[in-house]
Amino acid sequence: MGKKHANEANVDWQSISMKQYRVEPDTKVKLDNWDPNDKSQFDISKDDAAPLLAAMNTRLEELQELLYAEGKHKVLVVLQALDTGGKDGTIRHVFEGVNPAGVTVAPFGVPTAEELAHDYLWRVHKRTPGRGQMVIFNRSHYEDVLVVRVEGLVPEKVWKRRYAQINEFEQMLAEEGTTIVKFYLHIDLDEQKQRLQERLDDPSKQWKFAIGDLATRAKWPAYIDAYEAVLSKTSTTYAPWYVVPANRKWYRNLVISKVLIDTLERLEMSYPAPEEGLDKVVIV
Ligand code: ADP
Repeated sequence: MGKKHANEANVDWQSISMKQYRVEPDTKVKLDNWDPNDKSQFDISKDDAAPLLAAMNTRLEELQELLYAEGKHKVLVVLQALDTGGKDGTIRHVFEGVNPAGVTVAPFGVPTAEELAHDYLWRVHKRTPGRGQMVIFNRSHYEDVLVVRVEGLVPEKVWKRRYAQINEFEQMLAEEGTTIVKFYLHIDLDEQKQRLQERLDDPSKQWKFAIGDLATRAKWPAYIDAYEAVLSKTSTTYAPWYVVPANRKWYRNLVISKVLIDTLERLEMSYPAPEEGLDKVVIV
């Protein structure tokens, strides 16, 4: 469908499949079986990744422009990761150049008192995309079965029923015209150590270092269990999860970009028909 873009690495990226990273519905996910260092689908060097990503960015920009112009579909992108997993870097690099009028980033932090006074999907539903819009969730309603589960912020019987509630919520959004795609950025414990150390050593990154992140790191196995439950229970045909190998930032960006391009291309969008009589217009 999309026209070919030249790229210096000369990779035929349009025909590369990201299927192996998609979690099929009702599979029991063990993250040990997903290699965070995998680079099998784009077997290139880091240097070749930059021009390739630039070519893919151009295609993503075109598709997002079409999404906006057509004003028909709504696209929701969910980004989840453990600390230093690369959500911010993904947003910076993958969405570089898209038209800000049509793309919004919605971050979800610790809920406010008002948010806590409502059901957990209240603040989320308000940020979902309208027609022609793409919204990127930086964290999401999944925190309500991740941090909330690991930290015991609500009783087990409350978080346990949320998987089914989330599936129903996402099914409703999908039936009402939202295309949903979800990414878990998969890094390992060693990679997190290195990235935390970099933050500590680099004065321009120290602002990102929260001492509380160390307490979260200490609970790594519990978080992995919680992520495995999310990936096993909430990857559906209408809102699939992708486990993105994310130890290499360049590879992570290529995978996410490609999944987004494929997802948008499947919408078979077209520019709206021109106004009647436009062919007779003469500008004097
Ligand atoms: P990030 O780490 O995504 O760059 P912040 O440093 O603002 O952004 O962290 C957001 C924090 O909010 C995380 O520690 C996350 O666990 C927490 N958070 C998000 N959603 C919830 C929730 N529903 N309940 C409790 N904590 C939450």
